[in-house]
Amino acid sequence: AGRLKGRIAVVTAAGQGIGRAIAEAFVAEGATVHASDIARDKLDGLARAKKAKLDVLSSKAVAAYAEKVGPVDILVNVAGFVHHGTVLDCDDKDFDFSFDLNVKSMHRMIRAFLPGMLSRAKETGASASIVNMSSGASSIKGAPNRYVYGATKAAVIGLTKAVAIDYIRQGVRCNAICPGTVRSPSWEARVEDLGKTVGSTDKAMEMFVSRQPMGRVGEAPEIAALAVYLASNEAAFTTGVAIPVDGGWTL
Ligand code: NAD
Repeated sequence: AGRLKGRIAVVTAAGQGIGRAIAEAFVAEGATVHASDIARDKLDGLARAKKAKLDVLSSKAVAAYAEKVGPVDILVNVAGFVHHGTVLDCDDKDFDFSFDLNVKSMHRMIRAFLPGMLSRAKETGASASIVNMSSGASSIKGAPNRYVYGATKAAVIGLTKAVAIDYIRQGVRCNAICPGTVRSPSWEARVEDLGKTVGSTDKAMEMFVSRQPMGRVGEAPEIAALAVYLASNEAAFTTGVAIPVDGGWTL
């Protein structure tokens, strides 16, 4: 505990799953946490965090939120959506929505929070840290039926590296996390959905589990542990990387 003491953090999509686990881990490590989600009620059970409704699809809402929160040391961009299907299943609307939610949301958040992060880095002498949620399904690996999802998560890695190099001498680091299959409410819904095509939920579960050479899916706190490290000063020499946490999926 105390690895993020004195640090101010913002986490998007903190209502459930990986975002929630990250917000909880940051609180446990002593950070002041601003947790947001489009569904305000999902944040209710989150203790000792400042909670707000935020739709990361809205540039206006994001700018107003950054203004309200003020300068921060840590920004974690988690909001994302998994579109299921191939290129032929993805029309223009699907394509634009996925890029808007999975990529442009990060652009909005970084533009809004970076000026404050630069000033915090100068003021505290410790680097500020941006952590973006990518995926193993990205430029790392092609996953079946993850056409536009994989494209967006590859873009997240490119965006991460671009920000990292631009601010490398100004005290702001930017890294990406690439999870494999992680238990979360939306993942459980994907298992149910796949169950309808493959015959049963158990069969679908087995398919998701067997993707990992480790023979299990990940748990959200296992992703949060890496976010804590990247956010903390322990990772002061680490920027511009995309780190898999995936039970060997991309091995
Ligand atoms: P999830 O999909 O279960 O929850 C997503 C959260 O995002 C919800 O609380 C939802 O209310 C919120 N949200 C949706 N639209 C929003 C918007 N416009 N503005 C703000 N919040 C919004 O959570 P998860 O499965 O842990 O996924 C979180 C992130 O991790 C996503 O970016 C996802 O792509 C990535 N990821 C997940 C897995 C996995 O297996 N679960 C694997 C790799 C990457």
